[in-house]
Amino acid sequence: MKRRIGLGLVALILAAGLLVLVGRNWIAQRAFDRAVDKSVGIDRSAALPDGLHAYVCGSGSPLPDAARAGPCIAVLAGRQAFVFDAGSGSIRKLGRMGFPMDRLQAAFLTHLHSDHIDGLGELMLQAWIAGGRSVPLPIYGPAGTDKVVNGFDAAYETDRDFRIAHHGPKVTRPGGFGGAAHVLTLDPGSDDRQIYASGDATVRVFRVNHDPVKPAFGYRIDYKGRSIAISGDTVYVPSLVKASRGVDVLFHEAMNKHMVAALQAKLAERGRADAAKIMGDIQSYHSSPEDAARAAREAGAKALVLYHLVPAPPARLIEPLFLGDAPNQFSGTLRLAQDGMIVSLPAGGADVRFSRAF
Ligand SMILES: [Zn+2]
Ligand SMILES: [Zn+2]
Repeated sequence: MKRRIGLGLVALILAAGLLVLVGRNWIAQRAFDRAVDKSVGIDRSAALPDGLHAYVCGSGSPLPDAARAGPCIAVLAGRQAFVFDAGSGSIRKLGRMGFPMDRLQAAFLTHLHSDHIDGLGELMLQAWIAGGRSVPLPIYGPAGTDKVVNGFDAAYETDRDFRIAHHGPKVTRPGGFGGAAHVLTLDPGSDDRQIYASGDATVRVFRVNHDPVKPAFGYRIDYKGRSIAISGDTVYVPSLVKASRGVDVLFHEAMNKHMVAALQAKLAERGRADAAKIMGDIQSYHSSPEDAARAAREAGAKALVLYHLVPAPPARLIEPLFLGDAPNQFSGTLRLAQDGMIVSLPAGGADVRFSRAF
């Protein structure tokens, strides 16, 4: 009798376990199906109003950071899309943000430091595959951009052949592979010029100062009365102020030099002389948050969003320390960029809206 009760109990426990297991799988399957239905093949940008929208695809720097990809700002101007710099990891962030790669018109490089281009191969590949391109992606940048683009083309050639063989030329159109470099120059006497115009969107390139990296550029995008400027890497420089005059949003790089000096001192103390030297050197060609605030104030920008943060504050608690006196030097909206942030400037409006894609 006892034995029978024991067996019955075991059977009951097994049946309950099976039910839990099956039930759990059923719930997991339902959750998966819902996620697929809500996300796959849906144009998430369709919900945005007509206007200018900046996607922060990379707010970080060369320093390792799980939360921040290398520098990258993507811009949607009505139906046209552009990408400015492609730091490591940034293109996957763009994918997660639902950026409409099939509307990508061109990419723009501020300068050829590796942290600004190490995601470029991935961008070119995504523009081809996810973007369904049939002509190479135009890539604008300073002298040397052709060498960089041709190098990525060569590195991805074997992969191109695999993909065409597997998916067929109707899906992976051979002509859409790779990039078409456009080397930008500015006359010695001029600090900016328009380099792109289509429909209501224009892009201007302007000179910044990231010596000894020469030339180094920033960009300004205008669309239906709204505007965005992107600094690239620079110290405070009047040409940026002039070219960014009256913009709605200035995306500006920022380095807290006291913090970097502290990293430098610690590295030196621990016998890492080479790394300490680099930490010392990089302070000479970047802007402090106060420098960026000054540029935004003098340009009359409505909002200042700091990106390419060095070192990026790992917690909100440290943000005031990173910003230093910048909030007192700029009276407009001041934010630290985060990957996944979208800054929206609806056409015909004057407001600056912040949201998060993730
Ligand atoms: Zn740089
Ligand atoms: Zn940089």
